[in-house]
Amino acid sequence: MIIVMGPEATQEQVHVIMNKLTALGLKVHLSEGATRTIIGIIGNKQLIAQLSIEAMDGVEKTVSVTVDYKLVSREFKQDDTIVDVGGILIGGNHLAVMAGPCAVESREQLLQSAFIVKEAGAQFLRGGAYKPRTSPYAFQGLEEKGLEMLAEAREKTGLKIVTEVVDVESVPVVSAYADMLQIGSRNMQNFQLLKTVGKTNKPVLLKRGLSATINEWLNAAEYIMSEGNYNVVLCERGIRTYEEYTRNTLDLSAVAAVKNISHLPIIVDPSHGTGRWKLVRPMARAGIAAGADGLMIEVHPNPAEALSDGKQSLTPENFELTMQEVKTIAQVMGKVMA
Ligand code: PEP
Ligand code: MN
Repeated sequence: MIIVMGPEATQEQVHVIMNKLTALGLKVHLSEGATRTIIGIIGNKQLIAQLSIEAMDGVEKTVSVTVDYKLVSREFKQDDTIVDVGGILIGGNHLAVMAGPCAVESREQLLQSAFIVKEAGAQFLRGGAYKPRTSPYAFQGLEEKGLEMLAEAREKTGLKIVTEVVDVESVPVVSAYADMLQIGSRNMQNFQLLKTVGKTNKPVLLKRGLSATINEWLNAAEYIMSEGNYNVVLCERGIRTYEEYTRNTLDLSAVAAVKNISHLPIIVDPSHGTGRWKLVRPMARAGIAAGADGLMIEVHPNPAEALSDGKQSLTPENFELTMQEVKTIAQVMGKVMA
C-alpha cells in the first residue's frame, strides 16, 4: 500500500506516521516528489488494513498497489528517477551512452577502445572482466587484471566504468573498481546476487533476462531496491523468440511499457539485442526514438579479432556514425548528453 500525503503535510507528520509503522514491524520507504510525499508500506496486509491510516494527520489518501513490485512502480514514485553515476546522469532528459568491447582482452585493446568511444561522445566505457559464457571452453575474462585495466582507462579518459559482476563473491572486488555494476541477463534472477548488490551503494545496470517477462524483470529490480539501493537502471537487451536470423529479438515495446509502469531509467543494448553489427545502428536510433534513456553498444578496435561477440561489435567508424545519428534523434526527443 502507498500513503499519499497531502500537499500541505509537514515533515513532522510524515515522521510520526513512519515511526508508527516501523514500530509495528512494517517496512517503509519514503519518496519525496516535487509536489507530494509518498510513503510506501510493505508487510502484513491484514495489519496494514487494521490501521486507520487515512485518519492520520497529513494523509490525503491511501492507494493499494496492485502489482507485486512496489518501489519500482510509478504508483510509488511519479517523477522519473535520475541515477547519478559519479556526476553522469541517466534518466529524465539525460541520455547516457555506454560503449566498449564485450570483454577486456588486453591493456592495448581496452585503452584503444576507451579513446575511440570517448572521442565519439560516450560517457561510459563498458567491458567485461568476468564473462558469463555459454561454453565453459570460451574465454572467461581477465578477472581482476581486467578490472585494473578498466581503472587505468578511466584515469586516462575520464570515462565512467560499467562492468559485469557475475557472482556474490566478486561483488566487493568489482565494486572497488567499477562506477556501475552490471547484472547480466543470465543472472537476472540470481536473487542472492540481486540482494547483495542491493546492499552496496553502487548504481546497478540490470539487464533483462534471456526469457524474462517485464513483470519478472521489474521484480528483479525490486529485489535490489528493497535492500536500499535505489540507483537502478534497466537495460533491454533482447529476448529469446522463435526468430533465428537475429541473436535475440530486441523488444522496444518493453521500453515504452517500462516508461508507463516504472519511474526507473531504461537503456537499450542493440548489440546483444540483434547479434549483428549491421542492425546495431538502426536499432540504436530506434531505441532512443522509443524513449530510452541511453544505449549500451559493443565497440571493438578490430571486431574480426575480438575474443567475444565480434559479429555484433561496431568498428570505430561505425560507432562514430551511430553516435552522430543518435545525437540528432536525442535532440528531437528532448534529451541531452552531459
Ligand atoms: C554483455 O553485456 O557483454 C553481456 C554478456 O550481456 P548479456 O548479459 O545481455 O548477455
Ligand atoms: Mn557481449
